[in-house]
Amino acid sequence: MSFPEDARRTETDVLIIGGGVAGMMAAVGCRRSGVSPVLMTKASFPSGSSSMARGGYSAAMGHSNPADKPEFLFEDSVQASYDLCNRRLMRLMSHEAIERTHELDAWGLGLVRMENGLYHQKPSASHRYDRLLHCGKLMGKPLMQSLHKKMKAWEIASAAHVMFVDLMKEGDRVVGAWGFAYRDGAPVVVHARSTIIATGGAPQLHEVNDSPPYISGDGYAIALRAGADLIDMEFIDYQLMVAAPERIRGYPPHSSGFINAGAYLYNKDMERFMRRYDPERCERSTRAMVNRAVGTEIYEGRGTENHGVYLDTCHVFDVVNDGATADIVRVLKNCGVDLSKEPFEVASGPHTYLGGIRIDEWGRTTVEGLYSGGEASGGVHGANRTGGAALADSYVFGLRSGMGAACEAKGRERPDPEGGGWREGLERLEERANRAGGTHA
Ligand SMILES: Cc1cc2nc3c(=O)[nH]c(=O)nc-3n(C[C@H](O)[C@H](O)[C@H](O)COP(=O)(O)OP(=O)(O)OC[C@H]3O[C@@H](n4cnc5c(N)ncnc54)[C@H](O)[C@@H]3O)c2cc1C
Repeated sequence: MSFPEDARRTETDVLIIGGGVAGMMAAVGCRRSGVSPVLMTKASFPSGSSSMARGGYSAAMGHSNPADKPEFLFEDSVQASYDLCNRRLMRLMSHEAIERTHELDAWGLGLVRMENGLYHQKPSASHRYDRLLHCGKLMGKPLMQSLHKKMKAWEIASAAHVMFVDLMKEGDRVVGAWGFAYRDGAPVVVHARSTIIATGGAPQLHEVNDSPPYISGDGYAIALRAGADLIDMEFIDYQLMVAAPERIRGYPPHSSGFINAGAYLYNKDMERFMRRYDPERCERSTRAMVNRAVGTEIYEGRGTENHGVYLDTCHVFDVVNDGATADIVRVLKNCGVDLSKEPFEVASGPHTYLGGIRIDEWGRTTVEGLYSGGEASGGVHGANRTGGAALADSYVFGLRSGMGAACEAKGRERPDPEGGGWREGLERLEERANRAGGTHA
């Protein structure tokens, strides 16, 4: 195997790797700091778990209850995290999610409002007040469309179908990244004063998961190889996803939507087992507790033959047949499962990686020139997150990483376009591909 001779080479102040919400918010942060970044993504643009976001996100707007305030959201999040979150970052997120909400809605997100003009906020896991802002339907599409429109209006330079393989370094400093154009295999080399990793989580490491197939933890490996610290990699936010029928195994049923609607969980003996694990809150316990309970039931032999448990919504069918849960009702019906008459089988699968690249409040990693935001970064949420906190994280720290990267790029020297070790990296990859029996391109 050999790669085409001509690499596509670019120089920029800031390279953003990833075209989800965090990557686009990083581009907003760059623009706001007077720098035009280059954004590249492995899949289409926009893309990522962001495009599949379902229920919405949480912010302490105080619209469902005027008593609410960001400090209460902070307290709820610390408690939900088993006191393991990064308090400094969590406090920033709890406060700044409000400003991001006004901004995103002004750009066309289309959040649902009440008659009095205030936002409609729904209940969500581990929140003392109703805080979930929503679009009345799945959030992913309007979110990506409104941000993408902004990217176009600002003429943010972008390229899709580019998979980055490694960062480039000069001494201890990251000076960009190299990879491939998916379509023709041409090497892509981008030298940058600052580089932001916004590549999302690593759900594809697990058999059952609800995320796009290309979200495979690349950013964690790339950052680790460049010497960056990872944090909390053992903390994964599990969610209930479809266990059967087989052909939609892993389909994300928006389980928090079902649970908030009043769904019940049963084991194979039709015991409502959450009463044993959390007698007070039952299915409305923390996400971590519900998923641990489901795992325990299956592990101890009380699961279904498809290695799941039953989620029953018959008694609240009218509620789930409306809004963001209606599409799974339809999908299951097409697969022969009628939720008005029978339960469906769910299992726990990874939904959000809570660990990731260690960052500070400006998305700085532990390596000079390298930044991160969104699900690729870690430590914000500790061992468990509240409902709707992943998107809020991507808005706040996506933007902040862009601002940090842009401001600091101005003081950095231009990287040497021949430096960074990309030729050696390509050669190493070529050798490995040949050893593995690769064919001539
Ligand atoms: C089904 C589903 C529903 C969800 N619903 C909600 C919800 O309602 N509320 C909530 O708060 N959270 C929700 N989440 C979680 C939330 O959507 C994510 O945590 C968040 O969108 C992550 O955004 P991101 O930009 O960091 O990553 P992503 O949106 O995953 O984007 C990652 C980007 O990186 C690119 N990329 C990856 N590897 C490479 C590489 N090697 N080279 C170049 N580019 C690369 C990808 O192409 C993609 O563009 C949901 C997640 C899923 C899967």
